[in-house]
Amino acid sequence: MEKNKKINPLDVAMKQVDIAAAHLKLDPGIFEKIKYTQRELTVHFPVKMDDGSIKVFTGYRVQHNMTRGPAKGGIRYHPDVDLDEIKALAMWMTWKSAVVNIPYGGAKGGVQCDPKNMSLRELENMTRRFTWEIAMMIGPDRDIPAPDVYTNPQVMAWIMDTYSILKGYSVPGVVTGKPLELGGSLGRHEATGKGVFVTAQEAANYLNIPIPGARVAIQGCGNVGGIAAQYFEKAGAKVVAISDSKGGIYNPQGLNVSSVLDCKKKYSCVFSPGYKEGDEISNEELLQLDCDILIPAALENQITEKNAAKIKAKIIVEGANGPTTTEADEMLYDRGIFVVPDILANAGGVTVSYFEWVQNLQELLWSEEEVSERLTRILRRSFGEVLDISQKKKVNMRTAALILGIGRVAEATRLRGIYP
Ligand code: NAD
Repeated sequence: MEKNKKINPLDVAMKQVDIAAAHLKLDPGIFEKIKYTQRELTVHFPVKMDDGSIKVFTGYRVQHNMTRGPAKGGIRYHPDVDLDEIKALAMWMTWKSAVVNIPYGGAKGGVQCDPKNMSLRELENMTRRFTWEIAMMIGPDRDIPAPDVYTNPQVMAWIMDTYSILKGYSVPGVVTGKPLELGGSLGRHEATGKGVFVTAQEAANYLNIPIPGARVAIQGCGNVGGIAAQYFEKAGAKVVAISDSKGGIYNPQGLNVSSVLDCKKKYSCVFSPGYKEGDEISNEELLQLDCDILIPAALENQITEKNAAKIKAKIIVEGANGPTTTEADEMLYDRGIFVVPDILANAGGVTVSYFEWVQNLQELLWSEEEVSERLTRILRRSFGEVLDISQKKKVNMRTAALILGIGRVAEATRLRGIYP
């Protein structure tokens, strides 16, 4: 599905906050403070392209809130990146860190570009110059970027290298999601997909839907969707559909996830000519499939008032940030569809990013088992806390998660007081 240009993610984020704040007795001044972004930097910077030309790119780094700790949030490379999208994503990072109760604030960054049509050298040049432009804002004790859509461990390595050159010494803690060789954490690459699986398990358990045999449809097959698919398959679920930006593949008997991911690697799409494993479907069709668990794991605004009435899944687990609009949320709740919201469902990423940063600061390494065990414990505890609020206050899981997250940020703000 094409990203719906008319829906502004920042409007969605602001509406969500208003809905949740109505359940919290906040001081109006504190509410105003935590609703708005603290810092927004827009940069326009030149990059030497392979053909010798100079191209000017626009990029952003937004710090929404740093009351509970350093700002934390990914960097996105996509043609549709704009300031409002980055502001919304930064705000969701603040609430997410608070929901899982890790000592971070929220930030996000991005560059408006088309990475699929850039060479590796152009991507490196762009990343290094962007890092230089935002270097005044980032740092291990102030703002720590990580991968997001169309950025990866290699991009993080270039950011770490550029920042370290500027400082004159190695600063691994300036980014997370780094390659293992540069201080990355075991389990970080899998963390978000694993977290989606763990929170889906919790939701399925609550609704008495066994994971073995459950039919799962996944939109997006990158770091989040592709890895979540592997966890579901391993647990005996049937991954009936998976897609990327070009469309999806569907097999009601269940796809062989590794062969679909191999195909994605080889042909840059989830199906290839002559591929017999399933039928081609559109992203819109995927969202409306008859399935037990639907995982939007691509971009914002995929489930809207236009298609919410046609969703057949029993559970939606939001791997992506902001895939559901507020109107759609209400429709899904009225129809009894259980939504595990983004700020809980995909919080595995920021949680293991936090573990990576802690390991970097302490200059030690945790085992994969330790990372996995701590991650699972945090996500299960957070799911339980959010479910509890949702039941007590009779609100959907998103509003419950926001009540928990915003409540923690508001209380931290009250305790710190307003300077001067
Ligand atoms: P990625 O770049 O690894 O993968 C993105 C996937 O989405 C790709 O398969 C791509 O083909 C697909 N896609 C792009 N446009 C699409 C469209 N219009 N329709 C359908 N599919 C489309 O990115 P990712 O890291 O997997 O991020 C996906 C989502 O998860 C984003 O919303 C991101 O903010 C969120 N998220 C990521 C992390 C993380 O650790 N990487 C953590 C939390 C949340």
